[in-house]
Amino acid sequence: MNAEQCKDMFLAVADKIIDSEDYLTKIDEQIGDGDHGSGMALGFENVKQELSKAKVTSVEDVFRITGTTLLDIMGGASGVLFGTVFISGIAGRDPENDVGLKQFAEIFRKSLEALKRRGKANIGDKTMVDAFEPAVVALEESVTQNDGLTAGLRKAAEAAKKGMENTKKYQARFGRARYFGKKAIGLQDAGATSIWLIFQEMADWVELNG
Ligand code: ADP
Ligand code: MG
Repeated sequence: MNAEQCKDMFLAVADKIIDSEDYLTKIDEQIGDGDHGSGMALGFENVKQELSKAKVTSVEDVFRITGTTLLDIMGGASGVLFGTVFISGIAGRDPENDVGLKQFAEIFRKSLEALKRRGKANIGDKTMVDAFEPAVVALEESVTQNDGLTAGLRKAAEAAKKGMENTKKYQARFGRARYFGKKAIGLQDAGATSIWLIFQEMADWVELNG
């Protein structure tokens, strides 16, 4: 995948998040303050604008523009966290204009580690980590099994979905949801849902266009 294709894939991700605003709002209303859908939609509206006008020459450019825009526009805790998902993984990498599954696995592993350092959440804390970590592990397993990008992203999306569904079982240790105590059980985490949507759209895009 080259930089232009990565840009088109992230533009499709942006549309997916924007179209999912109401769905994310409803999830966050049950267990948070209901702002997750509007925050993500606003963030990705701006990602769409910035990416559309950008001249990108590396996949790292695409990740950087996406992450810094989310960080600047969304603000608050989740702006930093979703910014981290896209920015932290490319730190220290040389710009590349041709990446495959291996590079995506490396980038998202580094992002995951940064996210966990920053937010202190682990699997089972009912956060986006519950979806992101299994997705990264699935990417890495696909690299060892020599799956292509299409199969690898599909497996990552499926793993993220399972992780998102697992959040229903947990009490929250972070964010506003932690005040719900045991009442959080049965409810799905909004941030984990966004991570699933992101991987699902990347998989769908590559399947259609890759
Ligand atoms: P806010 O909590 O400021 O209202 P959002 O509603 O946009 O922000 O995002 C909430 C999401 O952020 C949660 O659903 C959860 O997935 C994620 N989150 C919250 N705290 C953490 C954390 N410490 N580490 C990782 N993810 C977190
Ligand atoms: Mg919220």
